Amino acid sequence: MRLYCPDLPDPGFPPIELQTEELKYAKNVLRAKLMDEVLLFDGRGREAKGVITRLDREHFTVEIKEVYKSSGKESALGIRLLQGILKGQKMDLVIQKTAELGVARIQPLVTKYTEVKITRKLERWQKIAIEAARQCGRNVAPVINEPVEFMDFFKSGPVAEENGLIKEPGIIFWERGGEGLKEIAARLQDADSRFKGTGCISLAVGPEGGFSEEEVSVAVNNGFYRAGLGPRILRAETAAITAVGLAQFLFGDMG
Ligand code: SAH
Repeated sequence: MRLYCPDLPDPGFPPIELQTEELKYAKNVLRAKLMDEVLLFDGRGREAKGVITRLDREHFTVEIKEVYKSSGKESALGIRLLQGILKGQKMDLVIQKTAELGVARIQPLVTKYTEVKITRKLERWQKIAIEAARQCGRNVAPVINEPVEFMDFFKSGPVAEENGLIKEPGIIFWERGGEGLKEIAARLQDADSRFKGTGCISLAVGPEGGFSEEEVSVAVNNGFYRAGLGPRILRAETAAITAVGLAQFLFGDMG
């Protein structure tokens, strides 16, 4: 059974106490017993083998046997999802499913048509990402960044061009159309010889209300490709999950 432990000690250290969340999960869902072997992951690429040495109502103690670095399940392609913040459970769904698909980082964006008032749900989102990582066998949970305004994100320029080279290629998905992903894949490999599916790519998906024309042009002026996802207008959550899946298929480790 795989459990999350943010502060993995080294072997030989006194047994560690896991968080109550993990205690509930291990007892109620996984039916853990004393002396069971467990796998712990810290969400940053370290994993450990251990044995449960105490398990009661309040305590969940694991003795660490071995700690190792393992990232065998990580895609060589670092996908950053720039997601217009969605209402309630839709955002949760996008985080959960794209974490399973191997997204590296999610940057929630407040866009012109974002309908959500409370955007500070970082703790909840990070928790969902960690749970999804645990489920699908990843040792690295996607990082969820603080929400920022769409325009500020592009102004501060982590994706802007530098010396004529796109620092990090990006694709903005527009419901009113754009190029096909296969064409973009071909162009990306021509335009940026460094991009061999081992770098990073940003994928921008709008909120329920879509992207404004201005937002799309700001992204395009920052070197983003504008892509369509076929003739149908997808719900934002469908678009995000599909976009990440297709990016893994075209450039990453799926398919
Ligand atoms: N309210 C808008 C639809 C927004 S869909 C309308 O009715 O026109 C939410 C987001 O999903 C979009 O901003 C876009 O990023 C993505 N999306 C949905 N369908 C898409 C498509 N066919 N091609 C590209 N992106 C799409």
